[in-house]
Amino acid sequence: MRALVGFGAPSGCRGASIMSFMTSGAPAAAAMNTSVLWSTHGWRRAARPQASPPAKPTSMWERFTATGKRSGSSAAAPTALIAAHPDDEILGLGGQLAGIPDLTLIHLTDGAPLDMSDARRAGFATRGAYARARALELDRALRAAQIIPARRRAVGMTDQEAVEHLPQLLALMEEELRGAAAVITHPYEGGHPDHDACAFIVQCACERLRAAGRAAPVRLEFASYHARDGAQATGIFWPAAGCAERTIPLDPAQLARKRAAVAEFATQKEVIMAFPLDPERVRRAPRYDFTRPPPPGDVLYDRFGWRMNGELWRERARAMLERVRR
Ligand SMILES: [Zn+2]
Repeated sequence: MRALVGFGAPSGCRGASIMSFMTSGAPAAAAMNTSVLWSTHGWRRAARPQASPPAKPTSMWERFTATGKRSGSSAAAPTALIAAHPDDEILGLGGQLAGIPDLTLIHLTDGAPLDMSDARRAGFATRGAYARARALELDRALRAAQIIPARRRAVGMTDQEAVEHLPQLLALMEEELRGAAAVITHPYEGGHPDHDACAFIVQCACERLRAAGRAAPVRLEFASYHARDGAQATGIFWPAAGCAERTIPLDPAQLARKRAAVAEFATQKEVIMAFPLDPERVRRAPRYDFTRPPPPGDVLYDRFGWRMNGELWRERARAMLERVRR
């Protein structure tokens, strides 16, 4: 068994904010009324559009966004999901996102790498055409999954290159996360450089918000993929000490919606066949040390011959950490 690495800092999962739901495998409580507000200090709720009526939240979600305090207000808890690519949100949480009220859905990249091999394989002659096709697939998949975010933002970075734009992305996400009660993103597992960039940006943004005396959202993660035992592990987490995960089986309706959504990602068909649809997994995010290799100790994308590799990624992360500490 490999040693856990990359956890030089104390886990973000321990401490007073750990909630009772972290009892692994505990059955979900009955769904609660949508009028329940899980409050955090200093929300900036006024700027949040109310494009969609709050859906019925799952009990899982309420528990994960809980901070231990409730209010009688009718507002929902603003939640941001920050995904690297169009399809990550469905593969990770496609069965449950319809149940999250006041959801802001953010994609950092357009899912089209500069290297044209993925695009050509999918039948596209230009990077732009491939990116547009992926954006349309996402629209259709969200509809199929009945996910109606209150707000969407496509930042539009080139696939595999998010880490090259850390200063810009950090500033954008720091702004986005002001007022959010919870933020959900990828774990730092060396599966994809853009997934790792999401984890970096979210942790860094939350710490900067706290350092500035503002409230920071609860950091959550959905399972993505990583290298394990010489292969690619999909839909599960690499274990993080002290961060119990919650495994959520989908009911037949959720599963049917997710299956319909996944079917819309025609350009990703071969890749997403490897992903289990059910169950979905969520956990509180650990506090990562991004100057060290990701916790599996193995960087999956180092095997792909991409321009970005684990060593170069950590160089960018170190430079960004130095910059924000100045
Ligand atoms: Zn992805």
